[in-house]
Amino acid sequence: YAKARGRARCISFEPAMRTAPLQALRLQTELRRALERDEIGLALQPVVDLPGRRLIGFEALARWAHPGRGSVPPAEFIPIAEESGLIVALGEMVLRKACALLRTWQPRLGATALTVSVNVSPVQLARPDLFELVDGVIAATGADVRRLKLEVTETALAQDLDIVSSRLDGLRQRGFRILIDDFGTGYSSLSRLHRLPFDGLKVDQSFVRPMLHDEDCRNIVRTVVALGHALGVDIVAEGVEDPETGRELARMGCTSAQGYHFGRPLSPADAGRLVERLSGGGPLFLP
Ligand code: C2E
Ligand code: MG
Ligand code: MG
Ligand code: MG
Repeated sequence: YAKARGRARCISFEPAMRTAPLQALRLQTELRRALERDEIGLALQPVVDLPGRRLIGFEALARWAHPGRGSVPPAEFIPIAEESGLIVALGEMVLRKACALLRTWQPRLGATALTVSVNVSPVQLARPDLFELVDGVIAATGADVRRLKLEVTETALAQDLDIVSSRLDGLRQRGFRILIDDFGTGYSSLSRLHRLPFDGLKVDQSFVRPMLHDEDCRNIVRTVVALGHALGVDIVAEGVEDPETGRELARMGCTSAQGYHFGRPLSPADAGRLVERLSGGGPLFLP
């Protein structure tokens, strides 16, 4: 009984929000227009190392500043972008903006470790022109590829194994590091996982957020951390909302984290101000 109850308390997110067809069609039309009008911007969420809590990077997250509806959350428009194919243009735009921002920070970064990670949709990963696209963006922006991480969800890895592994290989040969996002919520088997090249695992927030109160979630997080160590990859915990969760993750051997406790997603200008402080000398400690 306790087990069943414990498991039920792990928050589970629907991978795609169900939107009524008409509403979805309207959003699709508006999203296409938003892309043309450059209304999709970036938010940058700080990532820290553990146990140090030093700023080591940002995750770039898409934000839609809708003229009538305010800020539309990615949970609403990313699934629609994926279904309609608009994710290709949207994903390119996010990568381009993240690279351009990184380029403006680069002169001040020197030897400091700072990376920017960008989410890549399964649709983008499957495209035959993926390499042309990333090469084009890197050449146009002058971003340092070694400071870039690409986050692919477990769902993306469920595609044809040869294709996926050649895409990930090609990206890593270019210098990108690969993180597997929302780990634990998809369907990738361990046998697939060990045949794919990647550099880190992101433990999904549905396990991290309840972990102090829920033994099953805590055990899942501990197991993913151990798996990461065994595979020799980094572990990033998402959804750290309080200091005690951060401390518990550090005790478990988790190497990095992000969440509302360390920092909410920031505007590019606010993220730039953090970078400024970082380059002012010495590490920058977050809460
Ligand atoms: P994700 O890649 O797993 O990103 C983390 C999400 O968790 C972000 O939501 C972030 O704001 C939220 N988050 C971070 N820390 C906390 C916390 O402590 N508590 C809570 N409750 N939430 C936290 P966001 O920005 O709404 O993005 C949701 C998802 O939309 C992303 O999940 C990602 O799958 C997708 N997404 C966002 N931007 C892009 C993009 O440019 N391309 C693609 N393909 N997907 C994107
Ligand atoms: Mg992500
Ligand atoms: Mg994630
Ligand atoms: Mg997630």
